[in-house]
Amino acid sequence: MPWDDLEAARRWAVARLVPVAEKPHLEAEILLATLLDWNRARLLAHLDAPIPETLATTFRTWVLRRATGEPLPYITGRIEFCALEFAVTPAVLIPRPETELLVEMALEHADVTPSAPPIIADVGTGSGCIVITLASRLPQAQCYAIDLSPAAMEVARQNAARYGVLERLHFLEGDLLAPLPEPADIIVSNPPYIADTEWDNLPVSVRHEPAMALLAGCDGLNAVRRLLAQAPAKMRPGGILLVEIGERQGAVVLALAQQVFTHAECRIRTDLAGKDRVLQIRLP
Ligand code: GLN
Repeated sequence: MPWDDLEAARRWAVARLVPVAEKPHLEAEILLATLLDWNRARLLAHLDAPIPETLATTFRTWVLRRATGEPLPYITGRIEFCALEFAVTPAVLIPRPETELLVEMALEHADVTPSAPPIIADVGTGSGCIVITLASRLPQAQCYAIDLSPAAMEVARQNAARYGVLERLHFLEGDLLAPLPEPADIIVSNPPYIADTEWDNLPVSVRHEPAMALLAGCDGLNAVRRLLAQAPAKMRPGGILLVEIGERQGAVVLALAQQVFTHAECRIRTDLAGKDRVLQIRLP
């Protein structure tokens, strides 16, 4: 046995995670707890327990993978988003806490417009975190999940099944809103919005994520521009479009939106850190 107890295993891991992780203790504990199928509280209360040999081997592999910069959620295969746990693989973007604002805004809108069951479309669904959270909070909603990547769709399907929303979620493979067969009341999207030229400056862990989920042309706005062009034909009256944007894209995205939507209310919402985060367009 390489380590006498969990404490020694944690110490070994922390030393290897320091160069790549902001919170090496936390990450070492998450890896250990995930392997043991314990929660962190239980782990911390039993650090003097021995670590079974088979788990020790896997733990070692996991820590060394993380030490090369691979993101933690790809190693554990899961991440929390809006208080739900989602499976993730390298085929999908890892859900970020900032994106929870998009979900909150969609839910606020669904609250104030309790028309017939809302039709919701999620463009670039990835893990499905946005649309599955919405479907689980809005039991009447009919939802579309659109993605270019069949591998991503498979992950989203698995997540939808876990939360029992598979039969209300229609999966469409294709580009942005093109495959949507009917106009929607709520369109949500966390599209790629990073400039291609920024790839080399992204943190190593981010470069493990799918480039197609992150990059959008020379100014990072290709996906947003095309989404805005398609949107008017795909929105129901009184409908809303919510698009996540980069923290310095508010002014330029607002101008693009106002060019397309001359008679709709367009605004930018900032996140908890005060950064531009979501474009909102509401039709009369
Ligand atoms: N909708 C997913 C998310 O918000 C994926 C977004 C993407 O791949 N750009 O995490």
